[in-house]
Amino acid sequence: MTGTTQDDYTDRYARRVRGMTTSEIRALFAVASRPEVVSLAGGSPYIAALPLDAVGEMMGRLASELGTTSLQYGIGQGTIELRERICEVMSLSGIDGASPDDVVVTVGGQQGLDLVARLFLDPGDVVLAEGPTYVGALGVFQAAQAQVRHVAMDADGLIPAALEAAIAAAAGRVKFLYTIPTYQNPAGVTLSDARRDEILAICERHGLLIVEDDPYGMLGFEGEAPRPLRARKREGIIYVSTFSKTFAPGLRVGWVLAPHAVREKLVMASEANILCPSAFAQGAVTQYLTTMPWREQIKSYREIYRERRDALLDSLRDLMPAGTTWTEPKGGLFVWATLPEGLDSKAMMPRAIAARVAYVPGTGFYADGTGTGNIRLNFSFPPPERIREGVRRLAGVMEQELAL
Ligand code: PMP
Repeated sequence: MTGTTQDDYTDRYARRVRGMTTSEIRALFAVASRPEVVSLAGGSPYIAALPLDAVGEMMGRLASELGTTSLQYGIGQGTIELRERICEVMSLSGIDGASPDDVVVTVGGQQGLDLVARLFLDPGDVVLAEGPTYVGALGVFQAAQAQVRHVAMDADGLIPAALEAAIAAAAGRVKFLYTIPTYQNPAGVTLSDARRDEILAICERHGLLIVEDDPYGMLGFEGEAPRPLRARKREGIIYVSTFSKTFAPGLRVGWVLAPHAVREKLVMASEANILCPSAFAQGAVTQYLTTMPWREQIKSYREIYRERRDALLDSLRDLMPAGTTWTEPKGGLFVWATLPEGLDSKAMMPRAIAARVAYVPGTGFYADGTGTGNIRLNFSFPPPERIREGVRRLAGVMEQELAL
């Protein structure tokens, strides 16, 4: 961890390394994963719900019957079979007519974000992003030495007037808007239908590129999610998604759907970065999408997560001290809570760990140190009774802090 060990290499690092800081979330995982701690800190899907035996058999066949290709190098863009399946998956979200030629398979959505940063960001460039935003995207943009400016959200997502103001304030230095419009991480809010059109219109008026990150769009609990921005407009949008939340994050398979010209550069950047994505992991996802009931599996994730979301919201309503507020997500994995006046989520963390409950302090999701009064709570991984126990412990810690 930064600050805990002497680093004799400090003078030798490249300038961009100065922007790299330890993610508070990663540092927390070590303590939060102790069995006695109820962790509301993670972001892991509930993998135990997968038919693991069937997945195992499928993987076995992938090696024994298809090993000469699945264990071999492949092409940088990813296999055509998987890119075709990805276009089918996207059409379920309303992105019709995407060409497999414009899809680049990546090592998770995370590599997709990294490639976008490599293509578009010079040191000092400005990226606009929701406040709060995905911690892994902050890491990528900061490593590219870009400045992240946050744009405020409310219960309907990004606020159009705030976006206009942020664009004006950046005076032409903005490279793109990075947004997670659906079931946002960490805030759990969704950009409303009407606002989607407004945000698109603003970006078009200012010639601003949009990077739409959509890992959670298929994980809605209450009807269908509003269609992605990319489903409403083809040009000027780079769409990033992943199989991490709908299938398995351990396989590390995601993708980018980009305008045709950008796609060529993305492939070059990815080849320089990783040569090619894992043929075995791509084969596993392709087989999964071809031979297994993956739509049913997504439905089952939705049901499990809806029950857990309800358990979290009910527990918060029953147990939280007065003055605490929180978002009510219609999908995804997270609730964003605002603590009563005077509580500091980072300072409270050691006391919470001592009380055997973990959350992520809000500061990790901002580039500018805000978020001390917020916490992110995950509901996808712990079962409902553990969620309730976790909230009970957290409420106890907060009551103590308030009494100090
Ligand atoms: N974007 C967002 C908003 C995420 O929440 C995540 C995963 N937590 C990612 C991208 C990266 O996902 P992957 O596991 O596919 O790299």
